[in-house]
Amino acid sequence: MNDYVPITAEIRKRIAAIKGMTIIDAPEKLDEFGRDKTPGAFHLPELVCEATEVPQIQALLRLANECRFPVIPRGLGTGLAGGAIPIHGGVVLSLAKMNRILAIEPRNMIAVVEPGVPNLTLKNAVRQYGLCYPPDPASNDTCSIGGNAATNAGGPACVKYGTTRDYVLGLEAVLPSGELVEAGVRTRKGVVGYDLTRLLVGSEGTLGVITKLILRLIPHPADVTTLVALFPKLSPAMETITMILMRGHMPATLEFMDARCLELAGDILPFEGVSQAGAMLLIESDGATEAIRREIEAIRTLCLEGGASDTLVATDAEKRKQMWDVRREISLRIEEAHPLDIQEDIVVPIGRIAEFVECLPEFEAAYGGKIYAFGHSGDGNIHLSVTAGSFDARPQAEQVVRKIIEKVVAMGGTMSGEHGVGIAKQPFLPIELSAESMRLQRAIKLLFDPNLILNPGKLFA
Ligand SMILES: Cc1cc2nc3c(=O)[nH]c(=O)nc-3n(C[C@H](O)[C@H](O)[C@H](O)COP(=O)(O)OP(=O)(O)OC[C@H]3O[C@@H](n4cnc5c(N)ncnc54)[C@H](O)[C@@H]3O)c2cc1C
Repeated sequence: MNDYVPITAEIRKRIAAIKGMTIIDAPEKLDEFGRDKTPGAFHLPELVCEATEVPQIQALLRLANECRFPVIPRGLGTGLAGGAIPIHGGVVLSLAKMNRILAIEPRNMIAVVEPGVPNLTLKNAVRQYGLCYPPDPASNDTCSIGGNAATNAGGPACVKYGTTRDYVLGLEAVLPSGELVEAGVRTRKGVVGYDLTRLLVGSEGTLGVITKLILRLIPHPADVTTLVALFPKLSPAMETITMILMRGHMPATLEFMDARCLELAGDILPFEGVSQAGAMLLIESDGATEAIRREIEAIRTLCLEGGASDTLVATDAEKRKQMWDVRREISLRIEEAHPLDIQEDIVVPIGRIAEFVECLPEFEAAYGGKIYAFGHSGDGNIHLSVTAGSFDARPQAEQVVRKIIEKVVAMGGTMSGEHGVGIAKQPFLPIELSAESMRLQRAIKLLFDPNLILNPGKLFA
């Protein structure tokens, strides 16, 4: 482990001398920056700095290298893997005030933004030009584009549109040394050199501080239609997902909820008997009005053939909102209902989702708790809430989490489709990555950050 120096009065003075940098050190404020949205994760920072300009970040990182204190980049603190938590203390560097949309270029179909722009703000801004920025994490009104890039965030629309990585054409980042690097392009294509953009996207704030992003936009879909299908059991619902994709349909979202979720949040839906259903699919099709009506009707037929007991199509905004409310509400209700809630976001190959969910009762029996399953079934990305009525059950629940991850990896899947590694998944890395892969990735970290001052204790160092 690295020995870091504490933020002494002298270091604080030198940080305060960085022109335009705001320092936050009131105890109640520091507390706020000691956590993100990862249940139970906390560590107090020694200082918080709010940057508004790139040179401030460069000066801070140069000083951190000289004096050897940690710097932890932070967007809007909605992470679910503890990535922005300063587990070795040091300075939390907030990018929230670097929140300008620098350009929207409709003719080139790109946007250029600072990292602190909230995802939804960008979506709304480009919409005015008839354009769409597709990545849609459920936290889109409270998370930043910089945080989305650092975690390669996804959302329901990934099944059709892909993740954040697919929309970052280029970026600018301050390296741990304080140097500024530009990566990628402003064009739709570009293959010159190693793909530093794709390396920095998803690097969870461990290789550089992203200070500017050049984002690809697409035409905004003309229309959208939503379908809800209820099933008596989870497995036939999952089989239906595979069938929908194999028949050549490409819905914009293919979400699901299991019986436990419906019991908790089914009351929000305009259906009889939702709370008693075994599973629900939430499917959206977007594009030209007539085409999506036909597509949703074909998908509805596949659902009924697959064993759905009831279906409801919503074309108007109010009904669509009701259907999404239930999907958005679920995490909150699970958290309220259970003192212990370990949130996982595993991914299995889409053809094996049904096989995976059939194992869940076995895992529940192993520790005597309830496991809730919901999420992006079209991607095989399943959110699991491994819950218990008491914190005392944590060791047994963690054992089960390990077993779930082992199972997922053995099935050809991955332990995280969205939330990242941060501190939450670090102990499980050797289950998924080979020793050689870990060695190479550690070497990359050391090349970027030889003194391990940027977001230490995350991912590989
Ligand atoms: C209710 C809820 C729903 C969610 N739904 C989804 C979902 O559907 N899909 C999904 O992918 N995630 C989801 N998340 C998780 C979270 O919103 C995402 O991980 C998001 O991308 C984090 O953005 P942020 O601005 O809050 O980043 P933070 O939490 O502040 O930081 C996250 C990581 O990014 C790094 N980082 C932040 N900004 C920068 C920067 N400018 N340069 C370098 N590193 C940086 C941090 O060091 C940290 O490691 C959800 C979270 C909540 C609370």
